[in-house]
Amino acid sequence: MTAEELLRRTVAKFVENELIPVAGEIDEKAEFPWEMFRKLAALGAYGIRYSKEYGGAGANTTMFCIMCEELARGSMAVAAFTAMQCLMGTDFIYRYATEENKKKFLIPAIKGEKVVAFALTEPEAGTDLFGGVRTTAKKVKDGFIINGMKTWITNAPYADCFTVLCQTDKSKGARGLNFFLVGRDTPGLSVSPAFHKMGTKGTEISELAFDDCHIPHENMLGAEGRGLGNLAAILAEIRTMTAALSLGLARAAYDAALQYAKERTQFGRPIGKFQAIQMKIGSLATELEASRLILYNTTRMLDQGKNCIKEASMAKLFVSEVACRAADEATRIYGSYSYSMEYPVQRFFRDTRFLLFGGGTSEILQTIIAREEGL
Ligand SMILES: Cc1cc2nc3c(=O)[nH]c(=O)nc-3n(C[C@H](O)[C@H](O)[C@H](O)COP(=O)(O)OP(=O)(O)OC[C@H]3O[C@@H](n4cnc5c(N)ncnc54)[C@H](O)[C@@H]3O)c2cc1C
Repeated sequence: MTAEELLRRTVAKFVENELIPVAGEIDEKAEFPWEMFRKLAALGAYGIRYSKEYGGAGANTTMFCIMCEELARGSMAVAAFTAMQCLMGTDFIYRYATEENKKKFLIPAIKGEKVVAFALTEPEAGTDLFGGVRTTAKKVKDGFIINGMKTWITNAPYADCFTVLCQTDKSKGARGLNFFLVGRDTPGLSVSPAFHKMGTKGTEISELAFDDCHIPHENMLGAEGRGLGNLAAILAEIRTMTAALSLGLARAAYDAALQYAKERTQFGRPIGKFQAIQMKIGSLATELEASRLILYNTTRMLDQGKNCIKEASMAKLFVSEVACRAADEATRIYGSYSYSMEYPVQRFFRDTRFLLFGGGTSEILQTIIAREEGL
């Protein structure tokens, strides 16, 4: 058995035995599931991408995506906070923080002792980060003073630290954007109550307000002027990982639909014997196979260090749309029972919507792909 097969088998077993049985309860409570967070830490999930030196496993992107796919099959909320802990919330700290800050935030995040968050979005800056970011970090003698606001920040209600995108100098355009590490206990930082939202219930989201937050110089993450460039360097991995989350959810919806098509009887036979239902299953099975190919082709490219901004955008665009179709078709196959909170298909349907926005909307990804094609 290869290392990839072993990992998939191990995570799948965890998902079947530990996650699927509680996924509905996590969704219903809509609170961060600390017990599950700690169980995943005990499995070593949060350090999967990082070097052994910091307590990680040193696995490649393919392995990371296998883990994300399997977790999303069990619970999108749990997969979403795990992805945040493994990638967006820790990557800048891993690459650019001082050893002291790594000891303070990265190592505890990998151990599951601290929670991390990644703050890009603002009320005026959604898709348009470059033109819309208004949060400023003003250089002063002994560091930076941050003022502004961030919104839709996953994990914010209970995070211990934030990687925050700020404008340092408007006149420098793209080179005037930089990332900063801000601890939760920094005076002037306030966190709003959690949003009341439609899906991924279990990861909580809120707003951040920065009012003269003073941070030391060494909390700038990356060389000055490289903020957007450094973000671009991990965007392909973020998009590919979101495609992996999408594939996991698509599989969960498909498996539920297939099973129901075999069990539900109308007109004296299982509904799966009707051509209308078979056409849905046939199309979805094909789209799932195509999703696997496009996703893992992209992870292999990332693992080989190839530039794959186009392929990663295609993977995220294609597989997230497949997940939406799979959840939609599953609700049709379930009929009225999909409308009942007793069955998980309603959760799959609600959770797919998040996949359309995180990592870039479908519309902007289509634009990026078209640009890569020469338009
Ligand atoms: C569950 C959830 C978790 C999130 N977690 C985080 C987080 O942890 N950290 C964080 O920083 N953000 C987070 N976000 C925010 C998310 O990244 C943004 O919502 C996303 O970038 C889109 O921004 P927006 O919602 O402001 O949409 P807008 O940018 O306002 O877009 C609205 C519509 O216009 C379209 N559009 C915009 N510009 C163009 C264009 N140039 N061409 C064509 N169409 C365009 C979009 O595709 C979309 O259809 C989260 C969002 C959700 C829902």
